[in-house]
Amino acid sequence: MGHTDAVAHDPSDRVRRGHLPALRAGRNSRSSEPEERRVDIMDVSPFADGAAYVKGRFVPIAEAAIPVTDWGFTRSDAVYDVVHVFGGGFFRLNDHLDRFTRSMQARRLNPLEDRAAIEAVLHRCVALTGLRDAYVAMVASRGRPRVTGSRRPADCDNHLIAYAIPWIDVIPKDVQERGAHLWIASTPRVPDASVDPTVKNYQWSDLTSGLMEAHDHGYDTAILCDAQGFVTEGPGFNIFIVKDGKVVTPDRGSLHGITRKSVLELCAMMGIPAQVAPLPRAELEDADEVFAATTAGGVMPVSRVGGRILGNDRPGPVSLALKEAYWRKHAEGWHHTPVRPLEFA
Ligand code: PLP
Repeated sequence: MGHTDAVAHDPSDRVRRGHLPALRAGRNSRSSEPEERRVDIMDVSPFADGAAYVKGRFVPIAEAAIPVTDWGFTRSDAVYDVVHVFGGGFFRLNDHLDRFTRSMQARRLNPLEDRAAIEAVLHRCVALTGLRDAYVAMVASRGRPRVTGSRRPADCDNHLIAYAIPWIDVIPKDVQERGAHLWIASTPRVPDASVDPTVKNYQWSDLTSGLMEAHDHGYDTAILCDAQGFVTEGPGFNIFIVKDGKVVTPDRGSLHGITRKSVLELCAMMGIPAQVAPLPRAELEDADEVFAATTAGGVMPVSRVGGRILGNDRPGPVSLALKEAYWRKHAEGWHHTPVRPLEFA
């Protein structure tokens, strides 16, 4: 213990660590550096790993921080949204901004930036990184009370955080290819009346417990049922089943996902019957096909649910057709908003 503390408080270690971001950021390069090394360092954009907006300033992602006393951290008192950028454009940006606005209103969060300013911040975060494909988050945090020790949410200065980082798949691409293995968690989803799942939030204890159960059993990810035995959602995605050619996604315990909306629209275009309806656990276990859907990954086929192997242990045909259509429509410019160049962002 003492040894660990000594290492953590070694000032030379702090200095060493303190230098790293500056060097990566291409700043403070020292004249003692060899010439070629200095050139390399200067070539690296400070925003290459991501750009963030915190307390009114744009900073490299590694420098983005909030105070430890922010209620967004101490109480998960925050709402957020995530939109992706694919091929240089946002996908369904207005839908994400609409949902973020509804989430903020539901939790009485009111940062200084209005909708147009939030939109501009998102464009600028992406433009700073130069990324063509990105994961872009917007967060409204309760902040800290103006009156020390106050327990009144209304005493806090709410604030906006946003960031753009390289693309993320919540289920890795190789796992999507073979079909994800989905564990049905024993942890029930928190009741809708306690934490409204349509307000995108960071209260993830139940979802994280599900993930830990899944990993303990050698599965890729988890799906949670509510206390009444109805299927809800997983850590970062909505779930769909296909039974006798019909697509069903749960009507409760889950976020109104923007990808879910896209899947339902694609089903309508492709003549596939689809429904938002109660989904008892037994129907998930008896499905012909299962797939997950999220902004950070798109349509992600599942090949195993609990102990059951679906089809031939590979993604099913309806799931694959929807996945193909989802990305083809992206390439065709469906719901695409080009990222504003830096000079206009
Ligand atoms: N459910 C949860 C809990 C999520 O966190 C997410 C996305 O992050 C989703 C569902 C899918 O929503 P969307 O398609 O809008 O990304």
